Formats: sequence, C-alpha cells, structure tokens
Amino acid sequence: MTDPLLEVEDLNVYYGKSHALKGISLSINEGEIYGVIGPNGAGKTTMLNAIAGFVEYDGTIHYDGTDLATVKPQQIVRDGLIYCTEDRDLFPYFSVHENLLMGAQFRTDRDAVQDDLEMVYDLFPRLDERRTQEAETMSGGEQQMLAVGRALMSDPDVLMLDEPTLGLAPVIIQDIGDALETLQAEAGLTILLAEQNSTFALTHADRLSLIETGEIELSGTHDEFHDNEYVREAYVGVH
Ligand code: ATP
Repeated sequence: MTDPLLEVEDLNVYYGKSHALKGISLSINEGEIYGVIGPNGAGKTTMLNAIAGFVEYDGTIHYDGTDLATVKPQQIVRDGLIYCTEDRDLFPYFSVHENLLMGAQFRTDRDAVQDDLEMVYDLFPRLDERRTQEAETMSGGEQQMLAVGRALMSDPDVLMLDEPTLGLAPVIIQDIGDALETLQAEAGLTILLAEQNSTFALTHADRLSLIETGEIELSGTHDEFHDNEYVREAYVGVH
C-alpha cells in the first residue's frame, strides 16, 4: 500500500484557553475525495486552516512526506496543496478571466496555464460565458465556481474546499459536485472537502470523518457513513 498523500496526526489547536481541535487524526490517499462533516463550530475550518499553515497547532501534518511545520504557507501552495476558503477571497473588481489568471501567478509553465484555462472554462461553461464580467457582480454560485476555477489554475495536487455549497441553489450544488467528480476522474485530483451539507459530502466523498466539538466521532467509507444510523438520523435527516 502507498503512503497517504496528506496525513494529520494528533492535531490540537487552541484559541487562547479554548481547545478547538482535540487530537484529530486522519489520512487522505492520492486521488480520493475525503469529506469532513460536522455542525457549526465543530472545528472543520480550523482543521483546514491548520493544514494551510494559517493557525498554530500541536501535532504533525505530513503532505507528500514533508512535515508542513517546516514549510511556509506560500511554499505549501507551490507544492500543490491549494486551499479554497469559505470566503472565496476573489478580487472583486477583476474580471472572471483576470481572477483565473491570478490563480496561476506563481506558475512558469505558460502553455500548461493556457490549457488549464480552457479546462476550467470547459468545466464551468458559466464562467466561459462571463469571461469579462467583474467578479463582484457574479451570483453566489458563479463566484463559488470562480473560486474553484481559480484554485485549479494553481495546478493543485490536493484541493481543500471549505463549505463550497454554502448558500447555493440545488442546481448549482449539483454543478459543483459534478465538477469535483470530473476533476477526480480525469485529473486524478485529491480533494479534501469540509461541509455542513452532509448530503453533498456523502454523495461525493469516498471516505469521511465526522467532527463534533473538536473531536472525530467517526471515520469510515462512503458506504459505512451511509449505513450508519447516527449519521442518518442526526446529519442526513433519514430515519
Ligand atoms: P462552521 O461550519 O460554522 O464554519 P467549523 O466546523 O468550521 O464551523 P471552526 O470555524 O473551525 O468550526 O470553529 C471551531 C471553534 O473554534 C468554534 O468554537 C469557533 O468559535 C472557534 N474559533 C474559530 N476561529 C477562532 C478564532 N480566530 N479565535 C477564537 N476562536 C475561534
């Protein structure tokens, strides 16, 4: 068996006296979609922030064999671990096209950047139709597509997504889910997805963890989560 691409071991994060993450461990294999579900304030964002190097932590996080504590956040990005935050962080007055190009700003492989632009426009035809539109005038769903598209322009090996479906209409949620599965199948992308929308995560993830109040309550495969009575009752609303 090959080593996991991303491995989190005994991760603890404190905000002052508040113990936000209490010994989280999980490992993500190359090419899989991994879902982290849990209620408001459970610690999902904190976990992604720790992996991205945005918050201090105890414990270890290895990415492709490298201990991320030894690497600066910019280098983590250059090494292909790309984080699409819940806030999306778009450049509001830049066009769709310009925002996408910003995602490629550290790349030197110009031909591949051009190919990736076309790939993103193929993946999200709504962006293609709006190449010159300012990001701030796009709908929430279109902005989410743009945020994912811009992350893809960084040529990720692992894409971390925080709540990509938050506030979006069902038809757009479907588009985002289809895009993630296409990226997994065709580009071999590894995806770490934090979601309050458990149904979305359960639909698309190969394996999942459930976090409650900073602790992992359950980890397992897609099928194990589907069949788990507690998950079904508390998180999917199926009795
Ligand atoms: P949501 O789905 O609502 O975004 P979450 O699972 O992503 O929730 P976090 O945002 O990681 O949860 O928050 C975990 C806990 O840490 C919460 O109790 C939150 O209030 C607290 N917290 C998060 N960021 C900070 C901060 N910068 N300072 C102090 N406490 C924080």
